[in-house]
Amino acid sequence: MSFKVPRGTQDILPEQTPKWQKVESVLRELSRVYRYKEIRTPMFEQTELFQRSVGDTTDIVQKEMYTFEDRGGRSLTLRPEGTASTVRAYVEHKMFGVPDQPMKLSYIGPMFRYERQQAGRYRQFVQFGVEAIGSSDPAIDAEVIALAMDVYQSVGLKDIKLHLNSLGDKETRDAHRTALINHFKPSISEFCNDCQNRLEKNPLRILDCKVDHEHPLMGTAPKLTDYLNESSARYFEKVKEYLEILGIDYEVDPNLVRGLDYYNHTAFEIMSTASGFGAITTLCGGGRYNGLVSEMGGPDLPGIGFALSIERLLLALEAEGIELDVEDSLDIYVVAMGEEAKKKSVELLSSFRAKGISAEMDYIDRKMKAQMKSADRLGAKYVIVIGETELEEASVNIKEMQSGNEEKVELSELVNYLLEHK
Ligand code: ATP
Ligand code: MG
Repeated sequence: MSFKVPRGTQDILPEQTPKWQKVESVLRELSRVYRYKEIRTPMFEQTELFQRSVGDTTDIVQKEMYTFEDRGGRSLTLRPEGTASTVRAYVEHKMFGVPDQPMKLSYIGPMFRYERQQAGRYRQFVQFGVEAIGSSDPAIDAEVIALAMDVYQSVGLKDIKLHLNSLGDKETRDAHRTALINHFKPSISEFCNDCQNRLEKNPLRILDCKVDHEHPLMGTAPKLTDYLNESSARYFEKVKEYLEILGIDYEVDPNLVRGLDYYNHTAFEIMSTASGFGAITTLCGGGRYNGLVSEMGGPDLPGIGFALSIERLLLALEAEGIELDVEDSLDIYVVAMGEEAKKKSVELLSSFRAKGISAEMDYIDRKMKAQMKSADRLGAKYVIVIGETELEEASVNIKEMQSGNEEKVELSELVNYLLEHK
């Protein structure tokens, strides 16, 4: 019997983890400078949380959740996204009471969705996201978008594009909704079953359909931006103005609608335009959700956020042929000849590591030549060989692998030598 990773999941192997760590460090650093403090919530929540916040009619809730009953008979769900849990925690811990608002939070961690596996779509994937709760200043919309764009710029991506839309407020949405129903209703039988269901429940979602996106009625559908009332239009103008101040290019995309029920005003997606990128080009999605906090039992406070997956970010890097500058250095390899030399090596390695010098030695009794080869494969910067003579003289020849230069150094001076030269 042999085992495989579950469908839609992947092992991230040691040769890949440095890339992940690099991306994670970029995310951590950007969260620091933009001041989005990390929050860690459980990987599962009450099922109802997602039904209420993500929305009963969304693909996520209808088809993609990993829902199970625990031994106490409670219905729990592996989190499919991070906003619901973050807002739940914000309300539960009364973070709205903290004097400095908006509360700016970030999260990173695995999300779970039962999806059809394809490139860029996994059943377990890692999302990084931020939420700014408690402000409806268009400048915070621009800040959140800027942070998302900064993520991609910081890893060196060039072929990225920001799509922007406004979903307006409730009045806008209601007027637009009526127009959408009138537009699609006469021909709804030409659309997929999901769209037929969406027509009365949430016609906006038809625009987001992955099956019918080529249908001619999609292109001629009433545009949300034509239905913005005055205050929504003014809000949208301000967001655009701030983006211009920040030097962030965008394209207004009237067909951009977001999956969640509570999105309003600003909606955005960041796409990869790299030619090598597969069918799924969205790297990041976000938007404003002014009704969500109160829906979760909190005060009526506005919020905005985004989420992106590291998997798709890495795919975009691949498509653009960008190699992240990852560090995997070995400072010194110690070759030991004989039992006494080995004892010395163990001791030396410990003294190196205590000073932050990375060090390695042989643990499978290889001959000297094989150990040297191993040092070479591992990319050791320095190599020393310890045998009887070296032990007697209490000194070694330290060899810099790249130049081949050797220098005699006393064993007791090795740490200092490496600290100076590494
Ligand atoms: P899509 O339209 O591609 O299904 P979505 O609207 O379901 O995306 P969101 O819920 O907005 O996606 O999630 C935000 C981001 O998370 C996406 O832009 C994408 O980068 C990433 N993402 C979503 N689902 C997956 C997945 N199954 N595997 C990898 N990354 C994902
Ligand atoms: Mg999806």
